[in-house]
Amino acid sequence: MQLHKNTICIHAGMEPDPTTGAIMTPIYQTSTYVQAAPATHKGYEYARSQNPTRTALEAALAALEHGQYGLAFSSGVAATDAVIKLLSPGDEVIAANDMYGGTYRLFTKVFAKFGIQFTYVDTTDVQNIANAITAKTKLLWIETPTNPLMNITDIAAVASIAKQHGVLLCVDNTFASPYLQNPLTLGADIVMHSATKYLGGHSDVIQGALVVNDAALREQLYFIQKSCGAVPGPQDCFLVLRGIKTLHVRMQRHCENGATIAHWLRNNPKVGKVYWPGFEDNAGYTTAKKQMHGFGGMISFELKNDSVEEAKRVLSSTHLFSLAESLGGVESLINHPATMTHASIPREERLKNGLSDALIRLSVGIEDVNDLIADLEKAIG
Ligand SMILES: *Cc1c(COP(=O)(O)O)cnc(C)c1O
Repeated sequence: MQLHKNTICIHAGMEPDPTTGAIMTPIYQTSTYVQAAPATHKGYEYARSQNPTRTALEAALAALEHGQYGLAFSSGVAATDAVIKLLSPGDEVIAANDMYGGTYRLFTKVFAKFGIQFTYVDTTDVQNIANAITAKTKLLWIETPTNPLMNITDIAAVASIAKQHGVLLCVDNTFASPYLQNPLTLGADIVMHSATKYLGGHSDVIQGALVVNDAALREQLYFIQKSCGAVPGPQDCFLVLRGIKTLHVRMQRHCENGATIAHWLRNNPKVGKVYWPGFEDNAGYTTAKKQMHGFGGMISFELKNDSVEEAKRVLSSTHLFSLAESLGGVESLINHPATMTHASIPREERLKNGLSDALIRLSVGIEDVNDLIADLEKAIG
């Protein structure tokens, strides 16, 4: 029976604990497992390689993304790191020019040193990707919606380019969450998540995830996971499993509140451009509507008075919106990409890609939207 997403969130990966019947997956806080005789064991040898709490989470992640195999990592960037370790020196990656700053830093400051080449293009026009592919290209890396400009890339169109050229496509699906978008069903090979964000949902854990369909690809990634060792602890796996149980209701409210605030911002005379893919005149609207089940709770905007001072004044004046990096938790956050989440991208690069010094990013939480608007009104005032 194919279950609906609302049911998958609660039941995926969950089996009563075989020893006690505990309905919640226990936190298996152990480093090793006793074997009956040498190499005679229950599938668990050493906790870097296998942990039952992690196994349950990985099954839940796979089910949420309509994929076959989930792999959990100690952070989102650790999951990204594992994907790039599929490659060898001389291989090329084509990546989006507008993406999470930490991904850009990992690519340019760590992996470029090992002889992997990265080409950055505007992936919202998929022709740019096709034009950039060479014989050395092995991987396409996209993020949609992007952080923080909310640009949309057509996943199915990029997947068909990837197939044509025999290269892998990995989609960073953090901003949408598996509730709103499922890249594997659109033809992607790998889905990556920072589970720190919507999957965990409560700003209390750092974790990453990959989901794939191909068994050989899963084997390669599992080999990297256990060989390099960036695995999450069982307590963190428990927290993400618990977060997933309310992913659907949280995302529904994030979408509702996000839409209300995006429209309120747009109608505010002090606010300039509002970046949110749910506006019908947004360049990504048609694609977003096609590949997403909702527009989420992430919004960026500029003030009409686009001085950095004015942006900083607003950023320091909200009370319910806490000034902090990260996103996707139940509580609302406000962030200044230029000095916070995206400070690792050189200023000229940022400006070239449209990320101004005055841009403000909101992670709209699931509080009462009237209180959130009152908070913004007072700050922007
Ligand atoms: C936060 C984030 C990451 C990195 O994840 P961590 O869990 O912080 O390591 C990657 N991509 C996006 C879009 C993010 O927002």
